[in-house]
Amino acid sequence: MSNAREYVQSIQEQLHRKDEGQTEFLQAVDEFMPTVIQFLEKHPEYIEKNILGILVEPERIIQFRVPWQDDQGNWQVNRGYRIQYNSAIGPYKGGLRFHPSVNLSILKFLAFEQIFKNSLTGLPIGGGKGGSDFDPKGKSDNEIMRFCQSFMLELAKHIGPSVDVPAGDIGVGAREIGYLFGEYKRLKQYDAGVLTGKSLDFWGSKIRTEATGYGLVYYVKHLLKEEQDTFEGKTVFVSGSGNVAIYAIEKVHELGGKVVTCSDSSGYIYDPEGIDLELLKEIKEVKRQRLTEYANKRSSAEYHAGESVWTLKETVDIALPCATQNEIDDSLADNLVKHGVKIVAEGANMPCTLDAVSVFEKAAVWYCPGKAANAGGVAVSALEMSQNAQRLVWESEQVDTQLDEIMANIYTICRRTAASFGDEKNLLLGANVAGFEKVAKVMAAQGLV
Ligand code: GLU
Repeated sequence: MSNAREYVQSIQEQLHRKDEGQTEFLQAVDEFMPTVIQFLEKHPEYIEKNILGILVEPERIIQFRVPWQDDQGNWQVNRGYRIQYNSAIGPYKGGLRFHPSVNLSILKFLAFEQIFKNSLTGLPIGGGKGGSDFDPKGKSDNEIMRFCQSFMLELAKHIGPSVDVPAGDIGVGAREIGYLFGEYKRLKQYDAGVLTGKSLDFWGSKIRTEATGYGLVYYVKHLLKEEQDTFEGKTVFVSGSGNVAIYAIEKVHELGGKVVTCSDSSGYIYDPEGIDLELLKEIKEVKRQRLTEYANKRSSAEYHAGESVWTLKETVDIALPCATQNEIDDSLADNLVKHGVKIVAEGANMPCTLDAVSVFEKAAVWYCPGKAANAGGVAVSALEMSQNAQRLVWESEQVDTQLDEIMANIYTICRRTAASFGDEKNLLLGANVAGFEKVAKVMAAQGLV
């Protein structure tokens, strides 16, 4: 057994002991660790300096109480968090998630992934994540506002444009960012660069809303191109119906593919004619309704209540999971393989379990991990920070062109890094090693801090 393998395994064992029960976090760690062993064998200096052992410890975890009043006048309380995981290459950067499932384990997994994702963008941003177990579903606009204000009253003590720059994630979009920014401004000053994903009316970036979905499709486009192929005529399954899913569908359609599914937490739509994007946008973005409304308004669509979209037994070329973590397990992965899937690219963070990833690897399906494939969102957030620092707003075309270039670079670095380890198709290996390499180098250069 090599020294690097023992070193990595001892870190993994320690984490399993110290963070027992943090299942999602340990899953993200277990997915990452084996892929950096060969790299560490080539770089014993990082083992000597215990860079990986230091990196896995978050620099800081903040947990706080978020008291708020509902419309009936009742006093409510939720938990708020911010994980400031790693600031080697820039201020902590990562979204806020408001969802009842949120806990320390989920946010630590997201923040851990964010370190490598942000590193892959090539932009100067460290890794962080935060959020609350607050459930925005069914809340009035005023309740959302009061919650955001109370959340920021505490969070403002810990963030800043050169310290930590939160953005959105599940349950946090432009409306929530607006309320959060309003409160921050009232408490501190007009530092627009303290949050990204802002409205276009006040210092937001064009293409930020579209960026994660577009970026995901650009990543796959570059992969297809290297394989002398395109989206033209491809059948694509998408899960989710939030902004990642919506703008992935938009870009696939633009490039000549056909998306036939989308989903929410209550079920999924199968629309063999192709998803009607205008209708979907109207239901989800304007009216904030459930997907059942889509099926009511479109005769070609079937609604499957209470079922996962990944149980669908129809032919598929490309799968884009854009809903949430662990939505595809090994049996759902088997179903996709059986129905012809050639590429699985993650729009959500860790939507495939470790077992699902092995199914894809064994079946020689291209697996594009989220930390590479969905990095377009945070990349455009970093471009929003640049625009804010310049006090300028760039045109859509400029942002979109840069996004496409960034995704091309990420794809290329994943594939070339994997190839340098003799495993060219292993984009997970490529993403993990390339993301880690930069952070490790900078941590060593900055000394023991
Ligand atoms: N929440 C997004 C992600 O998972 C975006 C984060 C950001 O823009 O800071 O990468």
